Amino acid sequence: MTSESNQALVNSESGLEPSPEFGLQLRGLKKSFHGVKVVEDVNLSIKVGEFVTLLGPSGSGKTTCLNMVAGFLLPDAGEVLIKGRDLAQVPPERRGLGIVFQSYALFPHMSVAKNIAFPLKRRGIKGAELKERVRRALVQVELEQRAEARPSELSGGQQQRAALARALVFEPSLILFDEPLGALDRRLREHLQVQLREMHERLGFTALYVTHDQEEALRLSDRIAIMNEARIAQIGACEDIYKRPQSAFVAKFLGDANMLKVTVLECAPRACTVRIEDSQAVMQANHGEESRFERGDQALLVARPEALTVSPADGYGDATLLVRGELTDRVFVGQDVVSTVDTPQGARISIRERPEGAIGQLSVGDQVDVVWRTLESSAVVPVSAGDLPE
Ligand code: ADP
Ligand code: MG
Repeated sequence: MTSESNQALVNSESGLEPSPEFGLQLRGLKKSFHGVKVVEDVNLSIKVGEFVTLLGPSGSGKTTCLNMVAGFLLPDAGEVLIKGRDLAQVPPERRGLGIVFQSYALFPHMSVAKNIAFPLKRRGIKGAELKERVRRALVQVELEQRAEARPSELSGGQQQRAALARALVFEPSLILFDEPLGALDRRLREHLQVQLREMHERLGFTALYVTHDQEEALRLSDRIAIMNEARIAQIGACEDIYKRPQSAFVAKFLGDANMLKVTVLECAPRACTVRIEDSQAVMQANHGEESRFERGDQALLVARPEALTVSPADGYGDATLLVRGELTDRVFVGQDVVSTVDTPQGARISIRERPEGAIGQLSVGDQVDVVWRTLESSAVVPVSAGDLPE
């Protein structure tokens, strides 16, 4: 698949025309630093009230995108629109955005309550209403006991909750988040994810959220835009991207994925018949609607560990075979067992399943078949540089 056809796929996401039904639109956004393209033709339309996450590895251009939306950076090309209105001439402080950045610290000389009151006062809110709205914001982030503390007297988690309250308190229509929970420990991070999700449902703001943490993206987002090397690689609902990745990069970045070399035997609009090189097994697998393969193409088959099961050699009945090999490892991880099967050709497959099946009776060293438990999330993606399994 060419990068042009991939871009066409990204562009075919509805909503490239300016429209008030979008809380945020990025159109053809570009930015270079010293001749290096850091954001390259980013197109993204977020419906009013929608929660969209830019997910990608460090250095892929996420923060640069956010800075252009906030108005802290000028794009080299492209537009930022809120409800159909171009923001090019609007300075950062007049964009009316809530901002929760890692680096966007609280005012150190003000108490938590005063920090939260600040954006309200600037909008002319005072007296009883000011007091009540600050109180409610403090309750939302569970900081009512620390209202009079200075930021330096708070833990990292409390500071980030105060920053969140300050961004939410004036009920902005769009809130930008840049890895706001990145510095917190796992338990607190998960707690705040739940709270953030609840607040979003209750308040209905539009959110553009940046993270490199796939689990966080899955927990929070209505849709995810996966960024790789300055571009959006794929946009879609969480489950959609997980089940129908259009590239090896996306398959590996969102979730665990086994990748197997295959040859395309036949290609229909939504599914391909492929032959798996390791096992010579022939099967039908899904692919993105617009990614077409030709007969004879080399491609990669994405097999999620939880879509597979291990069975005794030749004992798999009517199920679809993936590969045959030796069971080389088996570990219990909570409810599931994760096993490893090595093929004679050198592929290593990871399988995650409940322990009640055949895997419970098998031992390390046994010859086994790896078969599909469900073909729903099988996907064929193009081979591109650096994507080949070792
Ligand atoms: P992310 O947030 O996805 O980690 P960034 O948008 O912060 O990525 O950065 C993308 C790339 O741009 C990185 O290689 C980074 O070093 C570079 N970069 C970011 N800001 C600047 C700047 N002000 N000057 C020069 N290079 C920058
Ligand atoms: Mg960043």
